[in-house]
Amino acid sequence: MPPPLFSNRLASIKGIRLPGSSSGWDINIVYSSDTCHGTIASITPHDSSDNVETSQPPLVLPALTHPHIHLDKAFVHSAPRYAHLLPLAGTFQEALSFTTEAKSDFTIPDLLTRGEWLLAESVSSGVTAMRAFVEVDHIVQLKCLDAAVTLKDQWSNACEIQIVCFAQDPIFSSEFGEENMRFIERALTLYPQIDVIGTTPYVESSIEAAKKNISWAIDRAMQLGKHVDFHLDYNLDPAKEALVWYLLGTLTRRGWTTRSSLKRVMLGHCTRLSLFNEEEWLQISRTIHENDLPVSFVGLPTSDLYMAAPPQQNAEGKPRGTLKVSEMIRKYNLDAVIGVNNVGNAFTPWGSADPLNLACLGVGIYQAGTQADADLLYECVSTRARAAIGLSLSNQSSIMKKGDRPDLILFRDRDDTGCGISRPRTSVAEIVWDPPARITRDLVAQGRLNTSRGTHYDAEPVYQYL
Ligand SMILES: [Zn+2]
Repeated sequence: MPPPLFSNRLASIKGIRLPGSSSGWDINIVYSSDTCHGTIASITPHDSSDNVETSQPPLVLPALTHPHIHLDKAFVHSAPRYAHLLPLAGTFQEALSFTTEAKSDFTIPDLLTRGEWLLAESVSSGVTAMRAFVEVDHIVQLKCLDAAVTLKDQWSNACEIQIVCFAQDPIFSSEFGEENMRFIERALTLYPQIDVIGTTPYVESSIEAAKKNISWAIDRAMQLGKHVDFHLDYNLDPAKEALVWYLLGTLTRRGWTTRSSLKRVMLGHCTRLSLFNEEEWLQISRTIHENDLPVSFVGLPTSDLYMAAPPQQNAEGKPRGTLKVSEMIRKYNLDAVIGVNNVGNAFTPWGSADPLNLACLGVGIYQAGTQADADLLYECVSTRARAAIGLSLSNQSSIMKKGDRPDLILFRDRDDTGCGISRPRTSVAEIVWDPPARITRDLVAQGRLNTSRGTHYDAEPVYQYL
């Protein structure tokens, strides 16, 4: 399956609606002559004498971002070769063992096919950037990485793929720890395309090994000038030491901020932190701010709600927990976003690749029903997510402005019901509360319109080309 086709460069997008404004606007784009990269040059009031239909102007919002998604494990459940590995018990242990079994069967063509499914469904949702985890260990060796490098290159017009060299398995314990570490080091030497070092301290067999895992990843990322990303504290056991304290202490002692100023640290899952009291949250916030640490948290609610591992003694009650992302941002002034994590595999058999479905889920999970909440949830899967993975510096608002990258979605008033009736969406809240069908979203990536859907809407007067 080929990557999507994109139009020529857009000079302007005319007669659109911006959030919180009822009048029409034009977005004007300029391109640098050496890099060809586009920038929003101005946003000006629309001149209604222009021949552009503005009775129902499309709402325009920044494009979406996956801050945390597993490219190599996507849609294992949709590939016939893994039909014998569909969940039977639905437990975390089963997910680990079935996924290990599936991994031993991964081939490059299979990785490319499933990766393309994920990319196609993400791009058609409006995603233009993603942090993609690919595993490197003694089972898959460098296969997942090879497939990711191919996809990063093929899909570069549509989506910026940031590759995480990811140790899902132990690197400081178990009989394969040393061999896994050798593959990781080899990958870091051979692949300049790796942007991020990712590890999973909780799979190590002891707390000492987990701490070694954390220190190693931080040191290596600093030496190589890469971002670092942890699957951390993925439990709901109050008796277990929360490793976030050790991690923040290590970043501070090593001088991460002064020595690695543009590279960021991401902490994923962290369900154990949902048991923290107010004093502990304040302590996290103080530690991060006083030491100026570029740390973001990513809540992964579809996975967490499905299988955040409860302590054995409470297994009957099946408690669930996930990071309270909106409260972390508002009450504790932390940087936090939301990610899809997994689609179509034993860790998360439910949910789609569409980040707007996550934002929608957030309304219920965080009991966040105001319009301001909807704006924040949209940012968590869009501009905040892009900044958290280090692809943009600070624009965290969902309101487009001069100087922004022309990656955006036009929410069009198109009938997807087959009844000749369509309900227009005019606010961010309406988009988040009930995400409209993908077919109603026109994606502009780097100033070019995705024209793959085969209709002729790219010729509509709203789109003006260079
Ligand atoms: Zn993950």
